[in-house]
Amino acid sequence: MPLNMFSKVEDIKGVGPKTREIMEKSGIVTVRDLLYYLPRTYENFTNVTTLSEIRPGKVVIRGKISELRIIKTKRRNFTITEGVIHDKTDAIRVIWFNQPYRVKQFDKDKDYYFTGTYDYKGGRYQLTSPRAELASEVDKAIENGFKPIYSVKGSFKSENFKRIFETLRPEFAFIPDLLPVSKSSPDFVKPGARADALFKAHFAEDEKEVKEARKYLAYEELFELILAANLNKKENQKLRASVIPFDAEKIRQVVEKLPFDLTNAQRRAAFEIFKDLEKNVPMNRLLQGDVGSGKTAVAALAAFAAANAGYQVAFLAPTAILASQHADSLNNLLAPLGVSVALLTGATKNKPALKARIKSGAVDLVVGTHALITDDTEFKKLALCIIDEQHRFGVNQRQKLLAKTVTSATASVISRVAKTADLENPDFASIKKPLAPHLLMMTATPIPRSLQLAIFGDLDVSTLNELPKGRQPVVTKIINEINFTDDLYPKVREYLASGQQVYWICRTIEDSSRSETISVKKQAEKLKNIFKDRTVTFLHGRMKTEEKDKIMSDFSSGKIDILVSTTVVEVGVNVPNANLMVIMDADGYGLAQLHQLRGRVGRGKNSAICYLVSPDDAEPARRLKVLEKSNDGFYLAEADLKLRGPGEIYGSLQHGAMSLQFASLTNSKLISAASNEAKKSAEEFAKHPEELQNYPELAFSIKKYQQLTTLN
Ligand code: ADP
Ligand code: MG
Repeated sequence: MPLNMFSKVEDIKGVGPKTREIMEKSGIVTVRDLLYYLPRTYENFTNVTTLSEIRPGKVVIRGKISELRIIKTKRRNFTITEGVIHDKTDAIRVIWFNQPYRVKQFDKDKDYYFTGTYDYKGGRYQLTSPRAELASEVDKAIENGFKPIYSVKGSFKSENFKRIFETLRPEFAFIPDLLPVSKSSPDFVKPGARADALFKAHFAEDEKEVKEARKYLAYEELFELILAANLNKKENQKLRASVIPFDAEKIRQVVEKLPFDLTNAQRRAAFEIFKDLEKNVPMNRLLQGDVGSGKTAVAALAAFAAANAGYQVAFLAPTAILASQHADSLNNLLAPLGVSVALLTGATKNKPALKARIKSGAVDLVVGTHALITDDTEFKKLALCIIDEQHRFGVNQRQKLLAKTVTSATASVISRVAKTADLENPDFASIKKPLAPHLLMMTATPIPRSLQLAIFGDLDVSTLNELPKGRQPVVTKIINEINFTDDLYPKVREYLASGQQVYWICRTIEDSSRSETISVKKQAEKLKNIFKDRTVTFLHGRMKTEEKDKIMSDFSSGKIDILVSTTVVEVGVNVPNANLMVIMDADGYGLAQLHQLRGRVGRGKNSAICYLVSPDDAEPARRLKVLEKSNDGFYLAEADLKLRGPGEIYGSLQHGAMSLQFASLTNSKLISAASNEAKKSAEEFAKHPEELQNYPELAFSIKKYQQLTTLN
């Protein structure tokens, strides 16, 4: 009998309420969730290396440990635990960062397995931060020497998962198939393939089986994603949008008012958008362009086109700081042409009055934060939604924005349809072509080409692949705190003396005993002492909106010399006179985020410099070195993909709403190949969406993707 994938985990023998609770924390509720909870990695105890033969790379060794001690470093609260591992043949150095408990963990007379990477760091070979397990326990627990390791939370151990899967072992054969098998399916998609892959994932006996399992599971995931995108695109075609005619003469007037010449890339993108707006099908377009490539100007043209045609535009920004900045610049540009621009954020005074004006149609362009999408904001003739830094918005927020279109009846149908995979829904068919706004999403986090199809298969993409003329690349330097006095401070003085301003980024707001990082408050104090004749101010996300706005506008107008800030300035903020940035504790950020931060400087004609501060003891992380070398967001996105895997990239794009769980375990080449295979098969399947009712589990899993990738 097929296994019921949607049974609750507590129906499994041996899973009590406590285990259930712990599992829920890892997102495991049903049997299906559990089966798809794949091992994070596998340890291969059949390949134990003796120390005399150890080579750099991933290693498993077995030995005793001695000479453990904690080394205090110059950095506050940053410790290194050091020791020596020895077996009968030789001895090596081992270190852990910030794991002082390691000193007490070991019995010096007992053998342990150590699993980790052996490499050359800080002038010598060492094993860094390995996992350690008592050898006698491992030997007892494993029969074949190949052991799955599950990510765990709290007191739950990887072994607990292992035990539960043992209980389920006989059931694996009854796991039902998920994917349709067709002419265009690859060979490995065949009846029983899914059961086989899941079994191999949890009971792998060697690397080969792990690979086979991952290959199938990655394909399955990509198929779902691409099918969802396909169906979304079809649904979009069933919606109706307001036609916004292209008024060449008026657009030319706006372009002439811009204080610069558009780049060719900006012209091309604007043109693509205007073409979409002329159609009666909603635009669903992503405008991607590196930081500083001038996406806002393109959006302004689109907004103008809609307002000029008598429609309303909603322009959504992820932070209040950014929203008010956009409102200012759009107002400067468009108000003289008769467009009325308003700002709506949490801090807006007299919201009811403004909302009434929006509802009456008196406001043409509303710029705002998510306050814009609270339920009681209504539009009269909303025809275009622009979402800046779209990856910063959750899916629900985007869906809410959609519901702002003309009639609430159609909106509710749309959202209902969006929630179901059933395209032949009678509700849907009964309302002929519901009205939806055109949608323009903007992002500076480019999606690596190898992932584009899988992730945004249903979006049209315009790319700004060119920076405005005269931009110089931001010089990027990794620096240690020890060199501040000699190298950094003189440079800061130089920039300040020439009338330019400085960003100083810190990770935390306040000092706490648990954190090793310096806070904005403390850093600001420090800098006030060092640069006595300068204005130093700090900024962070927990301040009141008015306060934040005031500081940002003071910084914009040059009243503040050094702005010490958390990453609230990360996205979109534009102060072209600020050209030096210092990022404290740069190791703690991801590549994409660092690139975004760095993008705050070098936005004008002046040369800019960005210092990445890395802790004094450790080797700087690889991604810092990559940043030092390149300013190209697309190159960095590919590099990031290689360093971290797509799961995390997509995760950060979507606020963790989704991750390419299995595909992320494989490399980008494989994803590209699997995407192409899945594309054919998914396209074929999408021709007959009614077929989906024969695949309830597939329907279930694509539902969640369908809501993610688009608004419509
Ligand atoms: P992003 O793509 O990161 O959102 P912005 O739209 O904020 O970039 O633009 C960055 C800066 O470049 C702004 O100061 C903007 O006025 C300026 N800018 C935009 N387009 C051009 C252009 N074609 N030539 C010169 N400067 C431009
Ligand atoms: Mg921007």
